[in-house]
Amino acid sequence: MKVTQAEIVISAVKPEQYPVEMLPEFALAGRSNVGKSSFINKMINRKNLARTSSKPGKTQTLNFYLINELLHFVDVPGYGFAKVSKKEREAWGRMIETYLTNRKQLKAVLLIVDLRHPPSKDDVMMYDFLKHHELPVVVIATKADKIPKGKWQKHVKVVKETLDLDPQDEVITFSSETGQGKDEIWGIIKNRM
Ligand code: GDP
Repeated sequence: MKVTQAEIVISAVKPEQYPVEMLPEFALAGRSNVGKSSFINKMINRKNLARTSSKPGKTQTLNFYLINELLHFVDVPGYGFAKVSKKEREAWGRMIETYLTNRKQLKAVLLIVDLRHPPSKDDVMMYDFLKHHELPVVVIATKADKIPKGKWQKHVKVVKETLDLDPQDEVITFSSETGQGKDEIWGIIKNRM
């Protein structure tokens, strides 16, 4: 898809703040620093609309991006910061659980992992949570440019095994540096709208 328009429409912490439109939504989830902001920016052809390298401690919000007036990307705050307090973690959990389990417009969750390393415990927990709630998941293995192409399939296999991936779920290799995987992911999004 050719993205001609993208803007943040709201940073929400509770359902009353979610957009009222019934546009299809695609949520982006992943641990902090995995490359989620870079993924969003690459997908929408913007250098820095999604803020990269977000630090812990800042307000944790669900950021809704309106794209071509056709769909929303919903940036879910990153998980897995060791330094976050139990209270903050619980608030984060409640907020994303409320969103992910009640949102009729949600078409799929794009779970971003790092192709270089086996998914973390938190990645596995997030995948299990999504499957438990029967939410459609697409796994995006990013930073693919950091390993030679010849080794991608070996790494994809590790991602699949570590997540104990449902055979019907896909792993797409991606790079925010090269744009690898971008067209394929837009194709998947279009099919699910
Ligand atoms: P976020 O915390 O998940 O939003 O992660 P960011 O998008 O801020 O990325 C974290 C770091 O990884 C930054 O230094 C990015 O430049 C880098 N990064 C993200 N995606 C890629 C990628 O596909 N390839 C490479 N080489 N670096 C990446």
